[in-house]
Amino acid sequence: MPVGVLAIQGDFEKHLDALARVGMEGVEVRSPEHLSKVERLILPGGESTTVGLLLQRYGLGEAIQDAAKRGMPMWGTCMGMILMARSIQGRENQYRLNLLDIEVARNAFGAQVHSFEDEVEIADLEEPVLGVFIRAPVVTQCGEGVRPLGQFQGKVVAVRQGALMGTSFHPELTDDTRLHSYFLEIEPTPVDSHG
Ligand code: GLN
Repeated sequence: MPVGVLAIQGDFEKHLDALARVGMEGVEVRSPEHLSKVERLILPGGESTTVGLLLQRYGLGEAIQDAAKRGMPMWGTCMGMILMARSIQGRENQYRLNLLDIEVARNAFGAQVHSFEDEVEIADLEEPVLGVFIRAPVVTQCGEGVRPLGQFQGKVVAVRQGALMGTSFHPELTDDTRLHSYFLEIEPTPVDSHG
């Protein structure tokens, strides 16, 4: 089965290109029907408020939560990680999927620094990746089951929890496909639901 990329808004085409570069078929996911035809899901960068509202309105958010509980591997980059978080600092009312047991802070590198690039060490990769940060979030709290995979300036910018992962930055905007390959190797892992 192909890999789905949530294609409501944002840089989903860049993920489809990256998947093509590693020889994997990627398909756009806009509905529960599309989601049922993929074996894993990437949630791209974009605008988390807008996409959250649409996920809620069309029932796709619930379908994603069900698929994650059944064990579907999912990876959120930037906006995607915000949507996957349990909690968004200072934004109790913003819709999120509550999949990763993390709290995130949006736009955490300050209003002036819209965008920058720097090396980020990733625990499971031998060489650092080039982190492209665009109005990027950071992880401000990690629950017990969450493993920080990468830090930058003392802040957690990549996490893994079972079959779920999140990165603050955008590997799909670089030529480096190691994190895409890493994600494609994650085994499906059903989540125990504690409600
Ligand atoms: N700042 C955006 C948000 O909060 C995320 C930015 C991105 O995905 N590059 O939704």
